Amino acid sequence: MPASENQGFNTRAVHAGQEFEPRTGAVVPPLHFSSTYAQDGIGGLRSGYEYGRGGNPTRDALQVQLAALELGTHAYSFSSGLAAEDALIRALTRPGDHIVLGNDAYGGTYRLISRVLGDWGIGNTPVDMANLDMVRDAVAANKTRFLWVETPSNPLMKITDIAALADIAHDAGALLVVDNTFASPYLQTPLALGADVVVHSTTKYIGGHSDVVGGAVVVKDAELADKIGFVQFAVGAVSGPMDAFLTTRGLKTLGVRMDRHSENGQAVAEWLLERPEVEAVLYPGLPTHPGHELAKKQMRKFGGMVSVQFKGGEAAARKVAESTSVFTLAESLGGIESLMNYPSEMTHASVKGTELAVPVNLLRLSCGIEDVEDLIADLDRAFSAIP
Ligand SMILES: *Cc1c(COP(=O)(O)O)cnc(C)c1O
Repeated sequence: MPASENQGFNTRAVHAGQEFEPRTGAVVPPLHFSSTYAQDGIGGLRSGYEYGRGGNPTRDALQVQLAALELGTHAYSFSSGLAAEDALIRALTRPGDHIVLGNDAYGGTYRLISRVLGDWGIGNTPVDMANLDMVRDAVAANKTRFLWVETPSNPLMKITDIAALADIAHDAGALLVVDNTFASPYLQTPLALGADVVVHSTTKYIGGHSDVVGGAVVVKDAELADKIGFVQFAVGAVSGPMDAFLTTRGLKTLGVRMDRHSENGQAVAEWLLERPEVEAVLYPGLPTHPGHELAKKQMRKFGGMVSVQFKGGEAAARKVAESTSVFTLAESLGGIESLMNYPSEMTHASVKGTELAVPVNLLRLSCGIEDVEDLIADLDRAFSAIP
């Protein structure tokens, strides 16, 4: 059954791009490993397929599915989230252009923009995205091509008004790019709120099982799509067929997983809030979170990411991180298994000492889909190890 845009999220997740194979009726579209395609006479391509870098049916199926879920017209799948970001930036910026980004952007994004693309003449200004006047000034002060935001942000869980940022970007002739990795399209669809581009690390919630690295760019404009599609083809950081297949399989269950991640995230955040060892809990589902009302407006639920700061400082955070057994101490997030991360030394080590540095008493929890009683019991045990 082909998916239609009138259908609900889960129906589109299961069916978009996933038509059964016509010859055998195989319900799951086959995984195509072929690097090249037979031609019916010179230039006689079957359905446009010529060579694997330019097109692959398994990748195409994923791209159709991604576009349907993000409410875009075109999606492009890459070998990693950063490969997707690199292709996007090189497709749509030129030397002298500027990127204004959140001052708590993903460390790898900042590293790519400042230390790789900076040498090719792309400028950047990190700003506090919650301060819209500052954002407006930063955008106006430069030849800004992209306003780049993550909401919820990583790992401070700040919520930013996507519709307001879209207006600021568009007034200045810039594009709004939203890294939607933390929310996933089930919780939030930035293109429908006025954003021009969505980027993803599909490694996280979209893949959802911590078994594949990938990225994606989604747009709703044919001209932008052509430029991004050209760089995907010309540079070639495409996702391989097996990666695309695993990502598609993960994406089919995104909605049911996000419901559970959100339930568990909420329960863990509420438990943390009551603990005497805790200085602050950063979770948009808590009424005490400064972005709670905005999150309610632009998100369906609040997700499984919870950050927590300890009164006992760095020592307490490190002790808890090294004392859990259901939560695994590891980088990354968004998988079905719960993960614990100490950003200052792990995911965000590359921004240590910069204005994007993360507090040393902070732990980031990616709440998986396990039974929440076991997650809380695990945290309870780890808290008792705090000196
Ligand atoms: C992981 C991550 C990225 C980078 O994606 P990779 O797949 O690791 O290259 C970008 N943005 C956010 C928010 C991430 O969490």
